[in-house]
Amino acid sequence: MKDELLRLAAYAGCVASAFVLFIAGGATPVFDAVVRTQAAAVFFVTSITSAQIQETYRASGSQTSASEALPAKKVKILIVPGHEPDTGGTEYQGVVERDVVVDIADALATLLAQNPHYEVMVARTKIAWNPLLQNYFDTHMLEIETFEQSQKAQMTGYLADGSILSDSDQVYHNAISTPGALKLYGINKWASDAAYDITLHLHINDYAGRRLSVLKAYNGFAMYVPDHQYSNAEASRTIGEALAGRLSAYHATSTLPKEDAGIVEDQQLIAIGSNNSANDASLLIEYGYIQEPQFQIASVRPLAIADYAYQTYLGLQDFFKDPIKGTRGSVSFPYDWTKLTGAQNEKGPGIYALQAALHHLGFYPPREKNFNDCPISGRAGSCTRSAIMQYQRSQSLEATGQLGPQTRSALTRDLEELSTESVRLK
Ligand SMILES: [Zn+2]
Repeated sequence: MKDELLRLAAYAGCVASAFVLFIAGGATPVFDAVVRTQAAAVFFVTSITSAQIQETYRASGSQTSASEALPAKKVKILIVPGHEPDTGGTEYQGVVERDVVVDIADALATLLAQNPHYEVMVARTKIAWNPLLQNYFDTHMLEIETFEQSQKAQMTGYLADGSILSDSDQVYHNAISTPGALKLYGINKWASDAAYDITLHLHINDYAGRRLSVLKAYNGFAMYVPDHQYSNAEASRTIGEALAGRLSAYHATSTLPKEDAGIVEDQQLIAIGSNNSANDASLLIEYGYIQEPQFQIASVRPLAIADYAYQTYLGLQDFFKDPIKGTRGSVSFPYDWTKLTGAQNEKGPGIYALQAALHHLGFYPPREKNFNDCPISGRAGSCTRSAIMQYQRSQSLEATGQLGPQTRSALTRDLEELSTESVRLK
């Protein structure tokens, strides 16, 4: 959940809020002297491009760079678990966002660390900031405040003279400079100074006005990318699209924004460079809603965490045109189905694996349903039952809606055949 750090939602009906709209600034707001017909869209000079980051990845494959006897620079990725070690974020039924996102961050960092093209840092653990960042906060807070103020002042000017267009779809109150907001500006500045290429902010969403009756209305992931006018917009969006492609293969896109396959442009989120305060490609991922079963069921949560991290990694590999070959897109299966029936309300990692496997085979969500209706959740219900029945019919088996010996062995065989095929295609 990002809201409390960054802004308070104020809906369009409140006219006054339109005047509170800013917030402004930018990491390197260099004036573009060329007058353009769509001046606003090109006002900030591009700070990083997809092509540059991809070239860094490619060049880091060699031991030394061509011109010097130095190890080639790796792609530097900063993973920021949302919120602070001991405060912030949402909680629901004992599941704490700020802790779960550390688990996703660590799993993702482990995957990235195995790839020699990357240099990765995680911004904090569950109990403390990374010492590098903590030291930076301790010794540079005045500088960070100055940075924030100058970015805001510049952006205010650009908005006033029309150089930058405010995002008219978003009407929010300005966020005051809380310690949390300052740390985010500090992270943006630190990452720029340390020449990071990509920063990923990880969150889990919540519906601010949650009531039992509306919980079902919100699920799925959302990928926040910087406003298209910002310096880091192109690279961020391109990476965001790659990540969303892998996440949406197994998860619903959020029912809330419902645009661009879950990709949402935002001008005011500090984490992704509000006031043009980030030079590197910056993304904020809301992996899902904390009420969703894959977070709430304790035995399923580790699998969901592993999958979210894996799918994020697959998306990065897609962006770098170095995709993982023959992947199923989920780490949840193969699975030993022996004790699984898929009966109503059965839950656990086996059900998650079954839903994912049925999806892989093209049977889940069942016909005429989508991931919002029928998520890969780790809990069996009517969706799982329908999917099993459709699978059984496709195998000319009795459509019981539950796993029996024949369905289990058919599943195992089909999954093996599919993975053999994908290996053969390589
Ligand atoms: Zn959050």
